[in-house]
Amino acid sequence: MLKDMMGLSEQGYKNLKRAALAVFLANLTLLFPFAVIIGLIITLLEPLTSGGPLDTARLWLLLGGGLAAAGVYIAAFKNEYKKTYRVAYTEAEKIRLEVAEHIRKLPLSFFNNKDLSELTANMMADCASVEHTMSHVAPQMLGDIAIAALACLLLGIYDWRMALALFIALPLAFGLIFLSRKAQEKFGERHVLAKLRVSDQVQEYLEGIKVVKAFGLSGEKSVALERSLRDMKKEAVKFEGLAGTFITLASMILQAGVGLVTIVGVSLLTSGGIDVITLLAFIVISAKIYGPITVILTLLPEFFYMLVSQRRMQALRRETPMRGAEDFVPADFAIELKNVCFAYNEDDVLHNISLHIPQNSVTALVGPSGSGKSTVSRLIDRFWDVKSGEILLGGKNIREIDPENLMRYMSFVFQDVVLFNDTVMNNIRIGKQDASDDEIYAAAKAARCDEFIKEMPDGYNTVIGENGSTLSGGERQRISIARALLKNAPVVLLDEATASLDPENEVLIQEAISELVKERTVIVIAHRLRTVMGADKIAVLENGRLADSGSGEELLARNELFARLYKIQQDSLGWSVRK
Ligand code: ADP
Repeated sequence: MLKDMMGLSEQGYKNLKRAALAVFLANLTLLFPFAVIIGLIITLLEPLTSGGPLDTARLWLLLGGGLAAAGVYIAAFKNEYKKTYRVAYTEAEKIRLEVAEHIRKLPLSFFNNKDLSELTANMMADCASVEHTMSHVAPQMLGDIAIAALACLLLGIYDWRMALALFIALPLAFGLIFLSRKAQEKFGERHVLAKLRVSDQVQEYLEGIKVVKAFGLSGEKSVALERSLRDMKKEAVKFEGLAGTFITLASMILQAGVGLVTIVGVSLLTSGGIDVITLLAFIVISAKIYGPITVILTLLPEFFYMLVSQRRMQALRRETPMRGAEDFVPADFAIELKNVCFAYNEDDVLHNISLHIPQNSVTALVGPSGSGKSTVSRLIDRFWDVKSGEILLGGKNIREIDPENLMRYMSFVFQDVVLFNDTVMNNIRIGKQDASDDEIYAAAKAARCDEFIKEMPDGYNTVIGENGSTLSGGERQRISIARALLKNAPVVLLDEATASLDPENEVLIQEAISELVKERTVIVIAHRLRTVMGADKIAVLENGRLADSGSGEELLARNELFARLYKIQQDSLGWSVRK
């Protein structure tokens, strides 16, 4: 049960058991000095109770025993440290990697409803909570429970009446903590959510810092951040206050046992039920044994708090990843959409689209903004799965192809090129991890990148800033084309740039693209009709429906929407800023 509750691996659970045993053993060694103290008390009291001489030999023996106990104690705690902390961090690392791997395989529909900060919190904070529980909570709790149970048993055998007095408050104290569990979890959940809102706000604040500065929004934007921080503080105080109150009440109930032991002990002593040594031993033990039990009481709420994070992690891990054949090799690279319907949320954005995209041809998707062009391309590369209908690649439904396998046959040239803070060389290498340097130079040349890269301070080894901020829009696009050329995939998805490029860049990109589309199945999302008039086939989309398809000439002659779009764009070509 504990394994599932904490979401541990087999090995993690085994390690947790070992850690609990190490804590138990370490706590057990704490009993040795304690036994030495009781032995000392008995030896010192003996002359008073039985009138005999002081046993000095035994005193020395006990002193030696005390020193030996200290040695064992150190060794046991070293063992506990190794068994608890090291394994906790190893397990947390394993869980984080597993979650990251799992997230990678989830469909984009999952990310559509989640924001990034929540997923980051899942991977960092929720995992940290499991990590903390494994290192600081669960082993200590289990070890202390074992030691308390052992003490209970031994004391019960020694004198059951006194043991009963000692432990009678126990069910009451624990009952109180368990009764408060629901409330604690509720407040814990609220605290976790408040923390999430803060990380959301911090992220938004940092991401928008440019806009914040440019528009002098520092006041307005920090208000939202401040509010979320204040909220988090309030929730934290409430949660801690609640847990603290119950822990204090429970330990008070527990401590009342010391009084009860004294009362029961004295009455048993006067009636001759026990001797004075037993009474003293129980009073000393009662002061000591409540230590580990109080620790359990304080750790239980932490454990409940961890369960909140754990449940969120479990929910994430239960999301079904996209699967399919991992070794499918398409016979050809024609693409066929058959009655495809699709919805991001409730409302359909694509209605019954059927389209044949022949192999080694250029097919352009055109239509007004919002008509579904990008959506169609996202379905072809299986970033999302269709709602109904099917998409075939080489005759096979892509739902039956593992997304990673499918990606092997596809290259992308997007508008928003993602560049990493690394060398130009490595940024191109993304297209093919094991490419030789010569292959990279060749791809860069073909994509008309070679010239501007050579002019950079360290040529191909120049580190480009975060997301390529040192490059112009046209240069970024050409790098992305170089990547696609390097990958050399048979299907290319091309998102034509909307932003106008300067004429020189435009010519260079045109040349680079001409290299890219040779002998490949190409799907172009076109924003400007002029650039795709020469495509083999143009599909006109309107409100998520396929309005028409054919060559540019044919469409111009018979499709009203196409002719209208064409005219608008022709007219707008020459806009300029005038006074
Ligand atoms: P186009 O590429 O032709 O401009 P899109 O395919 O981007 O059109 O969008 C088609 C419709 O789907 C639009 O109504 C748009 O608002 C909606 N849409 C696009 N992306 C998402 C998304 N991630 N979540 C929800 N709706 C979306």
